[in-house]
Order: sequence, then C-alpha cells, then structure tokens
Amino acid sequence: MKVSKRAQSIPPSATMAVTARARELKAEGVDVVSFGAGEPDFDTPDYIKQAAIEAIKAGKTKYTATPGMPALRKAIADKLKRENGLDYSPEQVIVNLGAKHSVYEAMQAVLDEGDEVILPSPYWVTYPETVKMAGAVVKVLQTKRENSYKVTADELKAAITDRTAMFLLNSPNNPGGFTYSPDELAELAGVLESTNIMVLSDEIYEKLIYGDTKFISFASLNEEAYKRTITVNGLSKTFAMTGWRIGYAAGPPDVIKAMGRLQSHMTQNAVSFVQEAAIAALTAPSNEAEKMRREFEKRARYMSERLNSVKGVVCPEPTGAFYCFPDVSSYYGRTMGGTKINGSLDFAGALLEQANVAVVPGKPFGCDANIRLCFAYSREEIAKGIDRMERWLSS
Ligand code: PMP
Repeated sequence: MKVSKRAQSIPPSATMAVTARARELKAEGVDVVSFGAGEPDFDTPDYIKQAAIEAIKAGKTKYTATPGMPALRKAIADKLKRENGLDYSPEQVIVNLGAKHSVYEAMQAVLDEGDEVILPSPYWVTYPETVKMAGAVVKVLQTKRENSYKVTADELKAAITDRTAMFLLNSPNNPGGFTYSPDELAELAGVLESTNIMVLSDEIYEKLIYGDTKFISFASLNEEAYKRTITVNGLSKTFAMTGWRIGYAAGPPDVIKAMGRLQSHMTQNAVSFVQEAAIAALTAPSNEAEKMRREFEKRARYMSERLNSVKGVVCPEPTGAFYCFPDVSSYYGRTMGGTKINGSLDFAGALLEQANVAVVPGKPFGCDANIRLCFAYSREEIAKGIDRMERWLSS
C-alpha cells in the first residue's frame, strides 16, 4: 500500500513509545513505575465536568463557528488581558483541538517551503515534526547545561540567517523544566527587533511555575514583540483536561484568519460542549488549578533533590512545567546488566527492562545526555521509582 514520503518521514511521538512499552510490561504483570507521559494525575475539576454535562443536556451538540464560539473567544481574550496583560480582540483568537493542533495550524499558516525555524534544544518532540510538515527547515540551536539549557541573546543572534522565518519559544519548558525570566525574554526580543522573524510562544505551562519564578508572556514585553508573536496556550495542563482537547492561539489578525481558513477544511470546530466547559474553566472562580500547582511544586523539589543525590546524576531544580531533566551521561560507556549504555535511548531502555522504571530518553528532545522524568505522579510513586533507579545505577 502506498504511504506518502511526507508521512514516512514522521516518526511516532517518542513519549508515547515509552508509555506504550511500559503499558505492555504492566499488562504482563510487571510492576512498572512510570514517569513517561506528561499529563496531570489529577482529575478534571467537577465544575468543568458539570458545565459539559449541562451543555449536552441543553442540546449544544451541533457545529459551532470554526474559530470557536464567540463566548469562548471572548473568555480567552479576557483571560489574556486579565492574566497576561495582552490586548487581543476575540477576532484575534482561534480555538483549536488542543495546543498541539494550534502549533501545527500556526506553522501551516505562516511557513513556506524552505523557511528556517530556530528551535532551541531541548525541545518538545512535536515541534520539529510540525515544522517539517509545513515544508520548512528546522535549525536546532544547542543550548548549554551551565545556562540551564536556555538560549542566550548571542546564541540566538548567531543562529539567524536571511531565511529565518520563525523562532520557537517554550517557557516554562517541556522537557527542560526551566522558565525564562522577564529579563532574559527582553534580551531575546531585543535580538529580533530589527528582523521580520515571527515568534511562536508556547505558554501551555504558564500556571505551573515554582518558587519565586515569574512568568511573563513574550507578546506582553512591548509593542514590537506583540506584533511578531503567536501566543499558544490551552487547558490541558492547567485544568487537568488533556483528553478534552482544547487549545488556542492568539496573534496578528491575518495569521489567525488564515488558521481559521485551514481549520474550516481540516477539523472545523473544537467539540461544541467542550467549548462550553472551557468557558466555565476560564471564567468561574476556583482555586483547583492553584491546588494542583502547589502539589506539583512539592514534587518538583522532592524529585530533583532525590535525583541530585544519586551519584553521577545532575538535575537542576525545575522552575516550571512538570518535568525533571537530569544529565545522566556520566553512565554512558558502561555496561549495565549486559547492555552497553551508549546514550539516552540505551539508558532509558535498560532502566525500563532491568529496573522497571519508565522514563523518556532525551535524544528525541535534542539532548542525548539527558532523560526526562515527569513528576505528575504521587510522591509514593516518585520515591519508589527513584529508589529503584538509584539501586540499579549502583549495582
Ligand atoms: N506544548 C507543549 C510544550 C506540551 O508539552 C504539550 C503537551 N505535551 C502541548 C503543547 C500540547 O498540549 P495539548 O495538545 O494537550 O493542548
């Protein structure tokens, strides 16, 4: 059967591959501790579920406007104003089927064949594939551990060519667990000032920040930054709604209109009654999201402290998102339980098969020295998993 060259060039998501293998082992009766998939372990808050149920009962089960119900676009514009200091009209907002869809659609709307996209590593696995699907070229910008894996202004400047069309920014970061400070973002914005480069700012983890970390939307830095930025966000992480598939993008009117045209032929609207639930999530007063954040904050500290105390493992304390991203490369070159560890794929594979702990290798995130551990799991699970990993590494 024929499969297009385009589809053949796209690998499956690496995070999903580890989760699938862990699931297989579990089905065989193996007691696996999994730090794989990046989703909150909390349930969606009741008031959000209730809004969806009521919407179904009220018959809100038909097509909506392609870019989203007017009331939801307004609720998003209001949220961006209230919480992020961003002035977007509802027409500058489009509702998509998850932020993953927002990223894909934004790239389809902006990028041309041969355009270059600067992608700092570590990066979320979906970015390079969505760039490729848009016919553009990924230019990976390697960052340094000593800079907490953040891009410096000089590094960004050096990566720009006359074909650069977009800079991909993700703060707080998956998989790195770091967050850019307002000053760092201002420096990056300064580098872009004399260019036509667009910024795709993926802010899906904005609410999951820890300690005295400050989050700021890139587009809110100044007028210049506002004009060049597509702000992407969604409800999956903040409201534990990964399965509901609601993401959104806000930005220049032409880009949002173009995304709407594409969407009208691809998916049409996000699920009608889920949009109603999204309105409830964004407008009803609730401290559910903050309760989850506080628990994640404790786990971030606990997991990174435990990892750092393992010999040969270096793990910065996460300032955002729900991932630890330790450097484990001091173990490369060794043989563990008969397996030669040549990089993160071998490390994660052997850790899963020999110690039954599922982590994601750093290689598909652009950092082969590292592995990613999601801490959206109970503290008991975290303790059990790190105990096993520690024992395995000292065996
Ligand atoms: N951006 C980043 C950086 C992510 O980690 C994820 C989820 N893994 C998403 C976007 C997509 O989230 P969703 O499609 O569930 O809204």
